[in-house]
Amino acid sequence: MDRPHTPPHASSPPARLSPDTIAVSAGRPARTPGAAVNPAVVLSSTYVSQGEPGAGEHLYARSGTPTWEPFEEALAALERAGHADAGRATDGPPAVVLASGMAAIAAVLALVPVGGRVVVPRHAYQVTLVLLRELAERGALTVDLVDVADTDAVAAAVRGSGDVPPAAMLWLESPTNPMLEVADVASLVTAAHGVAALVAVDNTFATPLVQRPLALGADLVVHSVTKYLAGHSDVVLGAVVTDDADLHARVVAHRTTHGAIAGPFEVWLALRGLRTLALRVERSQRSAAELARRLAAHPAVREVRHPSLPDDPGHARATAQMDGYGSVLGVRPVGGAAGADAFVAAVRLWVPATSLGGVESTLERRRRFGTESLTVPEDLVRMSVGIEDVDDLWADLETALDAARAVAED
Ligand SMILES: *Cc1c(COP(=O)(O)O)cnc(C)c1O
Repeated sequence: MDRPHTPPHASSPPARLSPDTIAVSAGRPARTPGAAVNPAVVLSSTYVSQGEPGAGEHLYARSGTPTWEPFEEALAALERAGHADAGRATDGPPAVVLASGMAAIAAVLALVPVGGRVVVPRHAYQVTLVLLRELAERGALTVDLVDVADTDAVAAAVRGSGDVPPAAMLWLESPTNPMLEVADVASLVTAAHGVAALVAVDNTFATPLVQRPLALGADLVVHSVTKYLAGHSDVVLGAVVTDDADLHARVVAHRTTHGAIAGPFEVWLALRGLRTLALRVERSQRSAAELARRLAAHPAVREVRHPSLPDDPGHARATAQMDGYGSVLGVRPVGGAAGADAFVAAVRLWVPATSLGGVESTLERRRRFGTESLTVPEDLVRMSVGIEDVDDLWADLETALDAARAVAED
């Protein structure tokens, strides 16, 4: 059964705080003398109950737990920070925490009516594309892949034409994984709402400190909490945020019936990670922009993608729409796929690994996965910049670029 909305947490912060402050102060226990500063981890599968549970009462841990709520309140407050029509950091339904980013994505895609059209960036998190393909093969929905940076083409795909009905959902990632393309979110929301399509934005790369899609008009935001929000490469977790009470109830109902629920320790770690999000994002974004600049000037680099670069195709849009440029870079070293593999093999400080958003810098050649989109260049290395000293990171990359150059000259 569904958990009713819980009231805002007793000690939620006042409205209009900066997102940096909300990350620290939201979702704290009530300030009664002797109370803990941090919420408790509650290990209980069931709760004392008789008859119909009242609002905010817990029943069974698949439908809601006291350990989820502080994180759910904090994340929703962050995604709503500075909301133009709100002036309220804590109103509206809390976030819905789920077992992984993919569980969150599956719960949002389940909102698409049977046979509905979903318009999706051709470059997006590859498992999102795998899930959409699988749902399409089963006849649950149809999928149209678009170049998300081409606003007119996306708007036309959303509207449909002739035998092609309007889309039921526009799925956005911006910047995209792994190509770092930037979508004009507000314009695309207008086009989608013109045909009553829902707009869902995967905000994993930007984080709510850098981009708040609800304020740009999106209906739903999804996160792989695994990445920046938790931030330490030690949990897998996901979340959905929406301002719409009906959509919120449907996502909660999906979580309860499908059962992709978060463990209490994972949520506790994610809230702990969230407290330092502003510091981590500030450092890693600054380093990412600096490394992008140095890489772009390096002779062993063919191309760098990062919206901070003045000549990046997404630069103007990102400047208008985001409070920063994010901490993920795309780089193509010389020497093709072999050069990229030599580059990845030569790093000593950067960790060759998939995933992103941790305090440690990681990198990988994306096309090592057979499932990655074929329009992603073979030699594209995705780099997630962590919080190490930028000159140490650069020294490691310079050495690794020598390895790519050796391959190119071979
Ligand atoms: C990692 C990732 C996901 C999937 O999240 P999991 O927590 O691994 O299930 C979804 N979207 C983006 C953009 C990601 O980077």
